[in-house]
Amino acid sequence: MPQLGELMAGSRHDLHVGLSPDAPDASEFRDDNKGAFGYVHSYETSSRYDGPGLRIVLFTSGCLLRCSYCHNPDTWHLKDGTYVSAEQVINRLAAFVPALRSLSGGLTISGGEPMVQLAFTRRILAAAKEMHLHTAIETSGFLGDSADDRYLSQLDLVLLDIKSGDPDTYRKATGRDLAPTLRFAERLAEMGKPVWVRFTLVPGLTDDPATSMRSRASSRR
Ligand code: SF4
Repeated sequence: MPQLGELMAGSRHDLHVGLSPDAPDASEFRDDNKGAFGYVHSYETSSRYDGPGLRIVLFTSGCLLRCSYCHNPDTWHLKDGTYVSAEQVINRLAAFVPALRSLSGGLTISGGEPMVQLAFTRRILAAAKEMHLHTAIETSGFLGDSADDRYLSQLDLVLLDIKSGDPDTYRKATGRDLAPTLRFAERLAEMGKPVWVRFTLVPGLTDDPATSMRSRASSRR
């Protein structure tokens, strides 16, 4: 097991590199510890953009997309995050509960991609619900198929980043297929799950009106 580190408060913009050099690649990650441990970039307090009210935003490490405009590439690899226990995260979160509750906020797990570490984030979300906190994840939805309904039932809100509605543009921007994200969006809609859809307009990349207006049917392939 890698050595445990300290959960770091800070900013999503702090550069973290090689803090868990023995960590597997995110695409090969298997959680043999049932979420008792995981890789975290940092956490910070936030408001307005990461969910309602005051938020604790936990940035997990590991992402399978490679967005050309990503401003946190040091969250792509698990090895760049700190190996911490879920208990450390939950204890830290507990200290903020009175403030989060009084300011109608809660916990948002972002990244990276929270669903790379499903068991770890599941454990933290379950603890947040036990503390009666509002919960959210910020996700590209690419790994949505791997999240079961029980996982989604722990979420009050999903911040769904759809990088483009056009498959070719999506692949150019992220290196991945759009279809899994659309499947996830449809599943959330069928469940009646509150969703904030987010889109980043990148001049010369995602701002072509011709592709953004393409039908959903043509983008499901
Ligand atoms: S999904 Fe987010 S963290 Fe992953 S590459 Fe894209 S912008 Fe970066």
